[in-house]
Amino acid sequence: MKDTSSTPIINCDFDPSAITLEQAQQVILQTTKTIGETEIVSIRQALGRVLRCDIVSTMDNPPNDNSAMDGYAVRVADCEQVNQGEKTILTVVGKSFAGQPFIGHLGRGEAVRIMTGAKIPLGADAVVMQEHTEYAMNSCSVSGNGADKVILNVAVKSGQNIRRQGEDINIGQTVIRAGTRLTPAAIGVLATMGIVEVEVTREVNVAIISTGDELQSLGTALKDGNIYDSNRYVLAALLNDPRFNVIEKGVLNDEKAVIEQTFINVASYADVVITTGGVSVGEADWIKDCVKKTGELFFWKAAIKPGRPITFGKVGSALFFGLPGNPVSVMVTFAQFTCWALQKLAGQQIEQPLQLSAKLLSPLKKRAGRMEFQRGILSYDEQGELCVQSTGEQGSGILTSMMQANCLIVLSADETAKAIGDKVMVESFSAVL
Ligand code: AMP
Ligand code: MG
Repeated sequence: MKDTSSTPIINCDFDPSAITLEQAQQVILQTTKTIGETEIVSIRQALGRVLRCDIVSTMDNPPNDNSAMDGYAVRVADCEQVNQGEKTILTVVGKSFAGQPFIGHLGRGEAVRIMTGAKIPLGADAVVMQEHTEYAMNSCSVSGNGADKVILNVAVKSGQNIRRQGEDINIGQTVIRAGTRLTPAAIGVLATMGIVEVEVTREVNVAIISTGDELQSLGTALKDGNIYDSNRYVLAALLNDPRFNVIEKGVLNDEKAVIEQTFINVASYADVVITTGGVSVGEADWIKDCVKKTGELFFWKAAIKPGRPITFGKVGSALFFGLPGNPVSVMVTFAQFTCWALQKLAGQQIEQPLQLSAKLLSPLKKRAGRMEFQRGILSYDEQGELCVQSTGEQGSGILTSMMQANCLIVLSADETAKAIGDKVMVESFSAVL
């Protein structure tokens, strides 16, 4: 039945010490298999999707040498005088517009009026910007009859203001690798190469389920002892991304049989099932049992704060993340664990948030033992140094701290309290948060 040959087993039931973040991430990566199914989409639909084939260019970009400036295409061989501090006068023999190139060869003593993006005429080897010239229309002739003159008064170097054929992209070059999440710039690069469609991973089906007898859906007055289900909205917002198809399963009560049956149903069509709540050691915490019953449990405790009780496993053939109930823990564990699996499922190179060192503007409380992700606000001080300030109270139920923050302050397990002026590592909120 189940192929357990490559499945890492971390026996948390017998080992009370939680696994480290790095161990957990490795387990997630080893367990997660990239979705094989792909689809072809137009580049208009491809933003944010994960490319599954290398893109090799069949053309150079730019396709021809062209002008980077409005000015005059010239031959450097004719510019000896100006290069020695005098003026050079050239005869203007025509015009080259972007899309309407000059036909012909530039001869001795000749220049072509050229616009930005226009093809460089044969024979020309430099473009002089218009601002470095004077135009002298021949008083006896009509403009454009070949007798107008241009006076160059600034030295000219070979190749100046010419954008070279292939300087951006070469024919045969692998321009975008499989596994790239397509950004607006990547969409532009595809268009530059004339590519209209690309192969991307099909949408990852992600089911989200809130659990807890106290949870009330929005739209009704709050009953005594209840709270509104905010995790569902946080998760739906975190997953609001072209890579994912979110399947919202609402709220489940803390009833083992109901949770189990839902897991079995959802696992038949979801690639990933994410629940919140019910993963700790309380008397209404059934998630671990239900995962064991309907699939496999790989770990359920990680040595991080917030988010120590986090369950990773499988229900049926779907990956399973049992995130904690507290809203801040949901966001932190989603970013540190679930995101890794989602990226791997989608066939993507794992994007790690940028880690920076910042100077503390407020003290931080911390005990050695667990890695911590505290909420911080990054800014620059008057000297331009990157600084970070705590959002204040760090309880895992204080969701407004996540809203105020623009980074997580990352404190390793052995670090303890920090003072103003200490340096700490921060992870700026990336595309994830
Ligand atoms: P639990 O892990 O189920 O014990 O939940 C931990 C805390 O998170 C409790 O205070 C819950 O009320 C709260 N919580 C659980 N689920 C949600 C939810 N969907 N939205 C907001 N808070 C929640
Ligand atoms: Mg609960």
